Amino acid sequence: FIVLGIETSCDDTAAAVVRSSGEILSQVVSSQADLLARYGGVAPKMAEEAHSQVIDQVVQEAIDKANVRETDLSAVAVTIGPGLSLCLRVGVRKARKTAGRFNLPIIGVHHMEAHALVARLMEKKLQFPFMALLISGGHNLLILAQDLGQYIQLGTTIDDAVGEAYDKTAKWLGLDLRRSGGPAIEELAREGDAKSIKFSIPMKQHKDCNFSYAGLKTQVRLAIKSRNIDAEIPISCANHQDRSSRADIAASFQRVAVLHLEERCERAIEWALNIEPSIKHLVVSGGVASNQYVRAQLDQVVKKNSLQLVCPPPSLCTDNGKSYLSSFA
Ligand code: ATP
Ligand code: FE
Repeated sequence: FIVLGIETSCDDTAAAVVRSSGEILSQVVSSQADLLARYGGVAPKMAEEAHSQVIDQVVQEAIDKANVRETDLSAVAVTIGPGLSLCLRVGVRKARKTAGRFNLPIIGVHHMEAHALVARLMEKKLQFPFMALLISGGHNLLILAQDLGQYIQLGTTIDDAVGEAYDKTAKWLGLDLRRSGGPAIEELAREGDAKSIKFSIPMKQHKDCNFSYAGLKTQVRLAIKSRNIDAEIPISCANHQDRSSRADIAASFQRVAVLHLEERCERAIEWALNIEPSIKHLVVSGGVASNQYVRAQLDQVVKKNSLQLVCPPPSLCTDNGKSYLSSFA
């Protein structure tokens, strides 16, 4: 089978063509990074217009690059949620149009399920049951995947997702937002002292697997204020001392943000192994999973439990038509 996948749940317009064997024939992403940088966030109406403008072109390009004809397609898969409904609708409309023309079935895909299952494309050894940590701008989820469509949610965020905390910290530190906040923080953190500021680890007293990042965000904002850091001054214009103080905040934030992930994963693994002793893998996916520090720290956690970490490559961690990849994975 050859399937066309379409993803428009948030700010990226993405399409991919994949074979049921798992071979990715093409993937095309058009990002709204310029809009994001200009307005500091996603405005649904504007995002919808941006998707509408490029969707035909993105899908056509995916088909052309895959070197297939539309008549070769066996199905069209499309993200049906969660996401911004105005934006989702653009993808669904396109999927219906394409599928209707060639009388193809449409596969509705859950965005977060896709983030978890995309790992099966690259790690052929990955068998159910496995665990998955999904960390992106909008979600923080710990799940036990028992089978296709059969998931136990072990934890979720009670407020913000870790990617959101990265993005806000980047904005408040005056980092270049033409790219997303995460990579900018990861880079700046390498210059800083991660132990210089003692942010407290979220939800220490809650012995469950849920997450919270709102409190850490507030701690970061206060630290920035007390050091007189002005986000209006871009980091590229900051003097040496200002820059190193921003780097310390970035590093200290990242250390605690990831410690929180580590703690929750450790507890979840212990719990899940009790009911499914055959678990061998923890899949870490979503935009934040492309962070090298995150990967290294989580790798230590899984090794302690004799599990293996599976991180899809960054290109498969973010929103790239993976919607569809998953449906056949
Ligand atoms: P969702 O998938 O929940 O709808 P999303 O579309 O924002 O949300 P992704 O595209 O998977 O999610 O990921 C984007 C998020 O990942 C952003 O918050 C971004 O800052 C974060 N991110 C990307 N790269 C890194 C990195 N190297 N370090 C930390 N965070 C990162
Ligand atoms: Fe996503």
